[in-house]
Order: sequence, then structure tokens, then C-alpha cells
Amino acid sequence: MSLRAKLLLPLVLIGILISGYLSAFWVPRTLAADEVAHLRAVDRHLSSVADSLVPLLLGNQLDILHGNLDSLKQANTDWLSIRLVNAEGKQLYPLATGVVSQEPPALPDLRKVEKPIHYLGEHLGTLTIQVDLAPSLANTRNEITELTLVLLGVLAVLMLTIVTTAEIMVGRPVRQLSDAASRLARMDFGTPLPNVGTDEIGALVNSFSSMRDDLQSNHASLVQEIADRKEAEEALKQLNETLEQRVRAEVAANRDKDHLLIQQSRLAAMGEMVHNIAHQWRQPLNTLGLIISNIVDDFRFKTLTEETLERDAASARRLLEKMSATIDDFRDFFRPDREKSSFDVATAVRDAVFIIEAALKSNHIDLAVDAPPGLTSSGFPSQYGQAVLNLLVNAKEAIQENRDSDGRIRVALRQEGGDAVLSVEDNGGGIPEDILPRLFDPYFTTKDQGSGIGLYMAKMIIERNMEGGISAANIENGARFTLRIPLERNA
Ligand code: ADP
Repeated sequence: MSLRAKLLLPLVLIGILISGYLSAFWVPRTLAADEVAHLRAVDRHLSSVADSLVPLLLGNQLDILHGNLDSLKQANTDWLSIRLVNAEGKQLYPLATGVVSQEPPALPDLRKVEKPIHYLGEHLGTLTIQVDLAPSLANTRNEITELTLVLLGVLAVLMLTIVTTAEIMVGRPVRQLSDAASRLARMDFGTPLPNVGTDEIGALVNSFSSMRDDLQSNHASLVQEIADRKEAEEALKQLNETLEQRVRAEVAANRDKDHLLIQQSRLAAMGEMVHNIAHQWRQPLNTLGLIISNIVDDFRFKTLTEETLERDAASARRLLEKMSATIDDFRDFFRPDREKSSFDVATAVRDAVFIIEAALKSNHIDLAVDAPPGLTSSGFPSQYGQAVLNLLVNAKEAIQENRDSDGRIRVALRQEGGDAVLSVEDNGGGIPEDILPRLFDPYFTTKDQGSGIGLYMAKMIIERNMEGGISAANIENGARFTLRIPLERNA
């Protein structure tokens, strides 16, 4: 049911109720009251007429009586008939002419009024009239009709006003709003909204408008998001297409890089080995030179005997064996580990110390090693030793670069919880704070001849291969490097 019909329905019902009340109660009651008033007036009139007839009846002056009643009838046109009978029941008026007196037609508003005529308690006759109330009731009826029409007119105007106002203030804006809402469902955000005031409909329009604005911005961001997603999907698709290719290229590049790194590290290790062998051999070579000089001198001064020759040759052989053993030791040290094994950490530390010991001595660098045996770890001892050697080499180079004398390196091994912790401290001046974060990066070096792979390899060995940790810090006058590796569980 439309809003208009809903508003009209109660008004129509009110109209029907009012009309029902008027026609069923008010109109009959008003007409009845009017009729009673008329009959009362007629009765009063009739009483005075009856009084005036008394002397005429007593004097039997029938002519005058007839004349009076005729003129009375003429004066009261609504009195359709006048009848007067005497006490004996004889009709005195109108005169019985032998012709049947004409009865007035049966009208709806015809009323009979009887008035007995008495004189000093004696009944003289009865005056009866038939009066038509229609003309006097017609006025009242007209007034009622007019009033009813005015009332219905007012009701109609009221209905029209309410319906028009409701249409302008509610119906039209609501229709516009519902049109905007159904367009909104089709994502049309531009439908003009009704321009209403600050009443309830205005509040509704305002909240619809702000809801629509929110929806529009959400829709816009949704559209943007979809576009972004599509773009990202497209990019992802392209990336996927090229990914395999790129991964292959990257893997190849990494392999090349690793290969190069291993090559460089091997070269560095070999250089280290040669350098250290040279130091290790310097003393025995000197001694060998002395032995040869001895033999030559003995020969020159004819003191060379079989015995002295045997003795010198034996010394020379011992020296050569020692030198050969040194090469074996070095080769073993640099031989890569094939498999994980249990090893004594202190032994691996001492093996590394042995490699560099001679070089340190010839550079007058004091070395103190505190590495008690008994800490067993599982892993690659040779790799661990190489990491320790790298730290020792760096310490030696820092001292060489920064000190003329009193160079000192302290190596200490201890157990901390389930870890074997080795610290290598030097007094070579320490590490500049700004390079500390990059120390373990591959190819990072501050040395002219440096490769920048020593610490990187040490980190790889300790962290990746042995699940340990490596760190660097500055101490007074120098640096401290700490290697932490887990001890074997059941050791
Ligand atoms: P390289 O020795 O070839 O430079 P490393 O990776 O072994 O490469 O060392 C990287 C850098 O770390 C060195 O160039 C040096 O600047 C710094 N460094 C390493 N050890 C020490 C140390 N004990 N004292 C001071 N600086 C050090």
C-alpha cells in the first residue's frame, strides 16, 4: 500500500464515521427536536384558537365560527385541514355538505393535533387540525445538508493538504532516495539526492549521502586494489616465467663466486704455508749450512775423518728428516677433512700454533698458549685449525703493522657451559669501530695485499660447518677474537 493510501485511509474512515454519526444520530435527533418545537408552537396557537371559539360555541354563532376558521386556514397554509366537532360528536366545521370532505394526502411530515375545548369544566367540542411540518423542517434539513457539505469539504481539503504535504515532504524525497539506492546497487554514485531541510527525512538523506560517499571511496580503493593485484599477478606471472632462468643464472654465478673464493682461499693458504715453511726451515737451513762449512773446513785443515764425516752427515740427515717432517705436518694441516670426527680442540689449536710459531719467533712476537687438553668437539678439526690460524695470522699482521716491539699474542681455551671457547688476543692496535660490522664480509680488507677472505672463511667454518659462533671486539691496545663451538654431547 502506498504512503498516500496509508495516509488517506484513516481520513476516509474518519469521514465515514462522521457521516455515519450525522445521518444515524445527529440528523434524526435534530429533526425530532425541531418537530417537537413546531408542534408545541402549533399546540399553543391551537389553544388560543380554542379559547376564542368558546363564546361562539356557547352563543351558537356558527357563521362567525366558520368565518374565523376559514380565515385561520387561509392564514396557516401548513394547516392542511381543520375539523371541529361538538360535544355530541357532530361535525361543526367544515360543514357536512353531503359531499365527502376531502382528506389531505398522506404526506410523510403530516401530523394531527387535537385540542379539546372546555368551558367551566364542560366539554364543548374538539378542534383537530392536520399540519404539514415539511416547510418548517425543510429549513433545518437545508441547514443540516449545508453543514454536512461544509464538514465534508473541510475534510476533503484536510485530506488534500495532508496528502500533498506528505507527497512533497516525504513521498517525493523517499522515491528519489530509493531511486538513488537502486542506482547505487549498480555502482552509480552520481544520482542527485533530494534537497530537504533538517527534519527526519533530511537526516535520512544526509546519512544516505555519507554512506554513499563512504561506499564510493571504499569502491574506489577496492577497484584500485584489484588493479594493483592484477598488476602484481601479471608481474608475478612474468617473474615466474623468468624466475627459473634467473635462479639458474644466479646459482651459476654463485657457484662461480664460491669457486673463485675457494681458489683464492686455497692460494692464500698455500702462500701461508710456503711463508711458514720458509720460517720453519730458516733455522735448520742455517744449521745445514754450518754443517757443510764444518765439513769443508775439516777437509781443508785435513781434520776430516770418517768419524767426523759420519757425525756431520748424521746431523745433516736428522735436519733433513726434520725439514721433511715439517712439510708433512704442513701438508696434513692443510689437507681437507673428508668427514666429521671427534677431535681434541686443544690439539687442533696447537697444530695451528705450530704452523705459525716460527714466523712469530722470527718477528719477535711473544706467543702464550693456554690450551688444556680434554675438550672434545665433533666436526672438522683441520677446518677449525685453519680458522684459528687465520686469527693468528691477522694478529701477527696487525702487530707487524702497528708495533715495533713487544708484540704479544695470547691464546686461551676454556669451557663455558657446553661450549669450547677459544680467545685470541693481540696488542696490534685493535679494529677501527666503523669497520667492525663489515669485518666478516667476503673480500673485505684494509690491507694492500689482503684478500679479505680469512675472516669470512673462519665465519663459514665455525657457523655453518660447526654450528658455533665467531665474534670480534676491541680490548686495550688490541683486538680479541672469540671462537665458540659446541662440545660433543657425550664427551
Ligand atoms: P685480510 O687479512 O686479507 O685483510 P681478513 O678477512 O682476514 O682479510 O681480515 C679482514 C680485515 O679485518 C683486515 O683487513 C683487518 O682490517 C681486520 N682485522 C682482522 N684481524 C684483525 C686484528 N687482529 N686486528 C686489527 N684488525 C684486524
